[in-house]
Amino acid sequence: MSVFDRFDPLTKEYLTELRSKGILHFEEDPVVDVFKMRENVYSIYSRSPGAGGDAWMHLVIGPEKAMLIDTGFGIGDLKALVEKLTDQPYYVVNTHFHGDHSQGNYQFEEVYCQKYDVEGLMAQMNPEVRECFQPKEDSYYTAADVVPYKEYKVIGVEDGYVFDLGQGHTIELIHLPGHAPGGCGFIDPVNRILFSGDAVVSTPVLICGDASSNLHSEFMTVAAFGTQLEKLTAKLDQFDVLYPGHAILEYPKSSVTDMLQACREVVADPDSFTEINSTGRIEEAKLKIVGLASFAYTDDRVR
Ligand SMILES: [Zn+2]
Repeated sequence: MSVFDRFDPLTKEYLTELRSKGILHFEEDPVVDVFKMRENVYSIYSRSPGAGGDAWMHLVIGPEKAMLIDTGFGIGDLKALVEKLTDQPYYVVNTHFHGDHSQGNYQFEEVYCQKYDVEGLMAQMNPEVRECFQPKEDSYYTAADVVPYKEYKVIGVEDGYVFDLGQGHTIELIHLPGHAPGGCGFIDPVNRILFSGDAVVSTPVLICGDASSNLHSEFMTVAAFGTQLEKLTAKLDQFDVLYPGHAILEYPKSSVTDMLQACREVVADPDSFTEINSTGRIEEAKLKIVGLASFAYTDDRVR
């Protein structure tokens, strides 16, 4: 049993339904599934090459500029796909530095992230790390699909940084640490979506394991996550649904207040977990579930 077992059937059910409504495939990048979610929002589904779960990337096309949120595993020609979907210049941003969201950065000249993930991204920018994301032999991919290593510029920005897509369409970065020190979401008030990365997902968020080797480890805690979720609740009138980096899209925004409640309860009493289970990464973690939100944590990551 793992903390994910009870959530995986729901993800499968959602994906089956989403696929039944129509998948787009483009010859520019045939290894991903593209879904047109709104008139100007595409969600791009990338299968895991073996490290990390299948991941979402999202493209928002504004009046003058577009924004690519996350770049996935770096398999397939994402750049060609983006430039097929829009003629606009575009920002490339990462919700956090983890490789299932950032290994495609090698195709781009510059990538934005929250400033506490700059060091994490710089550490990922390494030919040896790139090797870890090579497809396994029985993978859906071939070696020819793999994007080659290339250096790029990392731009770290503050909590509250605003990206301007033109004619009043702005997207605000909100720092959502805990899973990663510079984890963040992007609020798009025009489409009324919070792109939430791995911070609020329909499956358990992992806030567990020794974080002492990470820079900014003070942001790797349930308490730091809760502090920022509190700020996010002041902006609940700007979005209706969440588009996370994995699993279910169009996830209800009540998951944000559920997550805040879960954080508060665990900070007040680290033993207020729902069950103890394995995360797959580490033997045992505590799983906390409140409504639509859940996270797996270890005691060293509470405060
Ligand atoms: Zn992830």
